[in-house]
Amino acid sequence: MFNHYVSPARATQLVVKLIRIYPVITAVVLGVLYQLGAFTDKQNPPVSRELLLQFLYFYVGVIPLIFIAVFIFIGNSSDKESRIRANENQQFTIVDAFDLPQEKMHGFKLALITGPLPTFTGLTGDLYEYDAQAVCSLNPEHVPPVAECECGFYAYKEQRDAKFERSINPGSYLLDVDLYGIGFEYERGYRAETQVVNSLTYQPRCMRCKVFPAKTFVKSFRLGFQGPGSWEWQLRCQVCSQGVETDNKLSIAQMQSLLKVPFTKQ
Ligand SMILES: [Zn+2]
Ligand SMILES: [Zn+2]
Repeated sequence: MFNHYVSPARATQLVVKLIRIYPVITAVVLGVLYQLGAFTDKQNPPVSRELLLQFLYFYVGVIPLIFIAVFIFIGNSSDKESRIRANENQQFTIVDAFDLPQEKMHGFKLALITGPLPTFTGLTGDLYEYDAQAVCSLNPEHVPPVAECECGFYAYKEQRDAKFERSINPGSYLLDVDLYGIGFEYERGYRAETQVVNSLTYQPRCMRCKVFPAKTFVKSFRLGFQGPGSWEWQLRCQVCSQGVETDNKLSIAQMQSLLKVPFTKQ
């Protein structure tokens, strides 16, 4: 499963998916053991009770250790990967930036919608409009992207990478973007100078109850981990947006025209 064709990032996604279904597998395992009589004093069980309990101890004790071992393995190989990457970055710096190819790069990324006036907001907190030039927050003299800096617009090449990221950030929206200008290409994505948002994809269910269909954008105040917090626009169902003042609500059509980007339902 973890041969050298699977990148550490891809392996992490796989393990996280397995961990998510771990409770289901455990319930099934316990159900089967119960049926086989592991927890009762049934006479002449089809499988010896001792064997079943030994299996249970193995399951409880060893499987989590396997998960831990796999995470350590993934951690090690992604360290190795980033060392190689850092090396490649060293080589980047000696290349004349003006010689880099200027071509359109198509990709996918996640954004929140924040602010009293709805604005695209990267998961790292940078604000941008549908058509924007990157700005460096670390050094005002930079014209992003600068090789030895982090500045510039990022995007994944593959939609599935962005979708996996969204499963960890359920309040975010999926953007389809084109990047232009000077850009750096990485194994799984790009970093570039300018960005145009082509479309926004939202999930059909309410972001709060995760049950009813999403209907209305609702502005609510989120406390920040470090900063003072911010207004965040969540897409909610009719039930979860009841009682919210009209000033704090926007229809999907209104939000589309404010952000100047077409929306699609996933
Ligand atoms: Zn910079
Ligand atoms: Zn709801």
